[in-house]
Amino acid sequence: MSHQPSSTEAPNSIEAKDIAYQLHSYTNARKQEAEGSLVIERGEGVYVFDNNGKRYIESMAGLWSVAVGFGEKRLVEAATRQMAKLPYYHTFTQKTHGPSVDLAEKLIAMAPVPMSKAYFTNSGSEANDTVVKIVRYRSNALGKPEKKKIISRLKGYHGVTLASASLTGLPNNHRAFDLPMPGILHTTCPHYRAGAVPGESELEFSQRCANDLESLILAEGPDTVAAFIGEPVIGAGGVIVPPSGYWQAIQAVLKKYDILLIADEVICGFGRTGEMFGSTKYEIEPDIMTLSKQLSSSYLPISAVLINDRIYQPIADESALIGTFGHGFTASGHPVAAAVALENLAIIEERDLVGNVRTLSPHFLSRLRALESHPLAVEARGVGLIGALETYHAAFAEKPGALGAALNRAMHERGLIARNLGDTIAFCPPLIINEAQIDEIFDIVEASFDAVNATIDNGKA
Ligand code: PMP
Repeated sequence: MSHQPSSTEAPNSIEAKDIAYQLHSYTNARKQEAEGSLVIERGEGVYVFDNNGKRYIESMAGLWSVAVGFGEKRLVEAATRQMAKLPYYHTFTQKTHGPSVDLAEKLIAMAPVPMSKAYFTNSGSEANDTVVKIVRYRSNALGKPEKKKIISRLKGYHGVTLASASLTGLPNNHRAFDLPMPGILHTTCPHYRAGAVPGESELEFSQRCANDLESLILAEGPDTVAAFIGEPVIGAGGVIVPPSGYWQAIQAVLKKYDILLIADEVICGFGRTGEMFGSTKYEIEPDIMTLSKQLSSSYLPISAVLINDRIYQPIADESALIGTFGHGFTASGHPVAAAVALENLAIIEERDLVGNVRTLSPHFLSRLRALESHPLAVEARGVGLIGALETYHAAFAEKPGALGAALNRAMHERGLIARNLGDTIAFCPPLIINEAQIDEIFDIVEASFDAVNATIDNGKA
């Protein structure tokens, strides 16, 4: 059936209008045309409700982001207050406003290593794209125009704009987009179970990842490599927790060749791993950090790039030479988004949500790991309140992603929103979650795994 709107048959349900008028992110458009859309109407705490009133427990916090839960009135009030006072102003040409200054001060104070300045953007992709430009601008300022390459990792996720999608190390973000762009390279993914050779310890595997990085740097020429970017814990690439010694070994190589370290804290930032930042958890000392998602609990779009003085000083010099730092978004440091972010950070601190992650993590991880022995699971991975179950069954071997999709459907029917990244099921609940709600999630996960397994045993898969 065609969903083309026409003067005689205008679509009027929200589902029909959605298909008629909207192209969706990360969606198979033809499948959506055939199957329709899920309309989420409202949210409350760790739950969201669809337009038929069905309740779902949201075990992905939206897209790894709604730390304080859905329906937090303090954020609504912070936005309303700022809207009424100054709904918009920019930060170009020596202008500023209170919310952007206060948020910059707060982030510099919170940063796990000494940082010099915050630069505001509106999404994780924009933040990482801005970092690519900052790295180039700095190398030019330092008179090292050949030092521009950036190394990322296979399965890393850094966004979808041209440069940030290039940094991302996943085929769907490159295929058919003519990416990655030149000057962006990918090194080994630190997934121990998938990558280690028999008998190799975690420490040995970590050292091998660092050796691979060093070999790539030497092959490219150390004078051509400017920076390395990584998420402390890889998120959208499948929740890959670094093996022991990984970040220490990587940082030793970067120091040896004077290569900047960029920590993409877009998911890990603000408590996810049980520390305020993933960099603290894994003793990472970044020169640049990118932040978004839990920065505002995604109530409004905002992201930030934190840079240390090694980055700021040459940029400031170059801007004086050229006459400007020719970069900026209309909504950089948007006052309403900044006010919401400040209130959101206040809630995270006042309610000690990072402490909540630490308290609940053992229960979350034990329920997750209990599923590792399920006939459909091959590995459970996790830290803090982020985790994943990698699944496999021979009945689905010919169709990668089909088992994950079947499990996702089963969970959905039972009132749970998780996310299948291919055959890996990810969990990243709001930081306000409690123990009973964690049980609610994993009871549904278990029932769903059993139900899908039963269809296979019955030969129905
Ligand atoms: N970096 C990481 C680690 C992310 O997880 C994401 C989003 N999932 C991004 C960058 C891109 O953020 P956005 O979708 O806001 O552009």
